[in-house]
Amino acid sequence: MAENVYETALRQFDQAVQHLNLKRGIAEYLRVPKRELIVNFPVEMDDNSVRVFTGYRVHHSTALGPTKGGIRYHPQTTLDEMRALAMWMTWKCAVVGIPYGGAKGGVICDPQALSLRELENLTRRYATEISVLMNPQGDIPAPDVGTGEREMAWIMDTYSMHHGFSVPAVVTGKPLAIGGSQGRAEATGRGVVVTTIEALKRKNRSLEGARIVVQGFGKVGTPAAYLAQERGAKVVAVSDVDSGVYNPRGLDIQDVRAHIATHRTLTGYPKGEAITNAELLELECDILMPCALENQITGTNAPRVKAQIIAEGANGPLTPEADEILLKKGVFIIPDVLCNAGGVTVSYFEWVQDLQSFFWGEDEINERLRRIMVRSFNQVMQVAHEKKLDMRTAAQVLGIQRVAEAMQLRGIYP
Ligand code: NAD
Repeated sequence: MAENVYETALRQFDQAVQHLNLKRGIAEYLRVPKRELIVNFPVEMDDNSVRVFTGYRVHHSTALGPTKGGIRYHPQTTLDEMRALAMWMTWKCAVVGIPYGGAKGGVICDPQALSLRELENLTRRYATEISVLMNPQGDIPAPDVGTGEREMAWIMDTYSMHHGFSVPAVVTGKPLAIGGSQGRAEATGRGVVVTTIEALKRKNRSLEGARIVVQGFGKVGTPAAYLAQERGAKVVAVSDVDSGVYNPRGLDIQDVRAHIATHRTLTGYPKGEAITNAELLELECDILMPCALENQITGTNAPRVKAQIIAEGANGPLTPEADEILLKKGVFIIPDVLCNAGGVTVSYFEWVQDLQSFFWGEDEINERLRRIMVRSFNQVMQVAHEKKLDMRTAAQVLGIQRVAEAMQLRGIYP
C-alpha cells in the first residue's frame, strides 16, 4: 500500500512546528487546507458517449497572496494527494520569498488514454468548473504531471472566452506566443541544478565529472539532465514510467531526447543497458535526482541508495522512513520545497510579466532565478545550522515561520 502523502506532509509539519514558537491557533489553522473543491463533470467522448470525471482544486493558504499550484492529470490522483501538494506549495512559495499561497488541482484520468479532442473537452470543462476559484488575482494554476503548455493554453483560452477578453495572467506555463515566459519550460530543472551545485560546494566539489541519475524524464527531469550535462556532469541513467537506461560512461542527453521524440518512449534506447526504475534508484552515483512521483524511495530501498546527494525534483519522492535512513547514512537531501521551487519562481515572473504586459529577456529571467535559488538555499542552510536541523525540517521551519508571520500581522477577521 502506497504511503498517504498527506499524512507525510502533516508529519513533516508537526515536526517543523516543534522548532517554532507559534500560537496554538495559528499552527492548527496552517495544518488544514483553507478550502477544497471537488467537481464531477461530464465530457463528451469520441464515440459520442458521455463520461463523468472527478477533479479537484485545493487552496491551502492565502496568507502571503493568491494561491499558486499545478494541475495534475493522473489515474491515481486523490484529494489527499492534492492536500499534501497544496500544503507543500505554501511552504515552497514562502521559502523562495514569492508572494503566493499554496494550491493544487487535478483530474483523475489517464491522459495517454484520451484522444486530443477528449483531452481538450476535459480540460476546458475542468477549467470552467474551477473558475469559481481560479482567477488572476486569486488562484493561478500551472502545469504538473500529465499537463503542459497545451493544457495551459486551453485553460487560458477558456477563461478568456468567458470574460470576453484575453486574460493571460490566469495561468502560467503557457506557450510563449500567448504570454508565456522565457525560461519557464526549463525553470524547475534549472533550479534543481542550481541547488545541486550549491550542495556540491558544501562538499568542496563541482558538477564537473559528477555522476548523476535522473528518475522521470519529463518537464522537470529532462532539463535537469541536460543542464547538468552542459555543466560537465556525467548523466549515467535516466528513466520514464516504462523503464530506464544506464550507461556508466554517460548518456548523451540530447540523443536520448531525439530517441524519445521519434519513439515516444525511452524503451529501446540502444546506447545503454535497459534497467527498471527500482534498479535505477540504487545505482552507483554521486547525485540522485528523483523527478517523477511521490513515494519512490521508501524504508525498503533507502538502505540500498548509494548517492551522496539527493535533489528532489519531484514533490515528496522520499517517505519519512527513507528520510530517516538516508540522513543517518549522511546523505545530503535537497528537499522538494527548496529544490524544485524554480518552477513556481519563473511562474511568478510569468504572472508579473502578463500583468504588466511587458516581457523580459531569457538571460534576465535565468539570472533572477539563479539568485533566488542560491539565496533560498543559503537561508535554509542557515536555519539548519542555527537550529541543528536537517535540510527538510529547516526548509519547512523557514516556510512556516514566514506564513505564520503574515497571519499574525494580518490578524484574524472579524
Ligand atoms: P511530467 O508528466 O512532465 O513527467 C513525469 C515523468 O515521470 C515522465 O517521464 C513519466 O514517464 C515519469 N513517471 C511517471 N510515473 C512514473 C513512475 N511510477 N516511475 C518512474 N517514472 C514515472 O511531470 P513533471 O512536471 O516533470 O513533474 C514531475 C514531478 O515534479 C512531480 O512530482 C511534480 O509535482 C514535480 N514538480 C513539477 C514542476 C513543474 O514545473 N512541472 C514544478 C515543481 C515540481
